[in-house]
Amino acid sequence: MSRDHRILVTNDDGVASPGLVALARAAASLNRPVLVAAPSDDQSGASAAIGPRPPGGVRVEPVAIPGLDGVTSYAVDGAPAIAVVAARLGELGHHVDLVASGVNIGQNTGSSVLHSGTVGAALTGAHLGLSALAVSLAGRDPSHFDTATEVAAAALEWLVGAPAGTVLNVNVPDVALDRIAGVRDAPLASFGAVQTALREPEGGPFTMRLEFTWPDPEPGTDAALLAEGFVTVTRLAGVAGEAEPGVAGVLERALSRAA
Ligand code: MN
Repeated sequence: MSRDHRILVTNDDGVASPGLVALARAAASLNRPVLVAAPSDDQSGASAAIGPRPPGGVRVEPVAIPGLDGVTSYAVDGAPAIAVVAARLGELGHHVDLVASGVNIGQNTGSSVLHSGTVGAALTGAHLGLSALAVSLAGRDPSHFDTATEVAAAALEWLVGAPAGTVLNVNVPDVALDRIAGVRDAPLASFGAVQTALREPEGGPFTMRLEFTWPDPEPGTDAALLAEGFVTVTRLAGVAGEAEPGVAGVLERALSRAA
């Protein structure tokens, strides 16, 4: 097994997404070897899921991605976090020491990043001790992937020197590089996604869309600044938990009454 340490490039839009190529190019610009391992199909909304996994095992197939000649690339039949775990465990034939996830088609701002497979892959990398970048390009059908490549390359350079486990969530407006308003550190906006569920006929399957509504996102948040044309940078903390004094006592008393 090769001992070179690679940048793992993944996404949640699948191996056919132009965003994956844009991000792999950013990673390659650091003059470090790159390993691409991304879902074989669209896994948007997968968050950090590592299931379901088929009983026979997760299929991993080598793929040739147009625009990424010479880059070792795999399609993983599952959610992006599965690709991250597999790479971290050395199952893809290389060691990885940095995770880059994206470039997602559409922004990942506000607390609804909870649902994002792009962000979930980055947080999974951090959970496994690696620093990670999640990067998204605003708009439903964005075109300025070159802008995202430049921003991602700069963010990855910064992450190389950051403490292990650091996660950056970066959103890029869909404009040419010389048209961005600037770059801003930004907290997550507080709104979540509004889920629109469509079901017809009654009792049949439903489709669900995550609609983002921000009549007025709080000034200075990622959603507000992105809408103003800035690249936004947010450091994400993963799952956190703390003792809630008193609850255990309440439960204990309830249990002793039930005993
Ligand atoms: Mn996506």
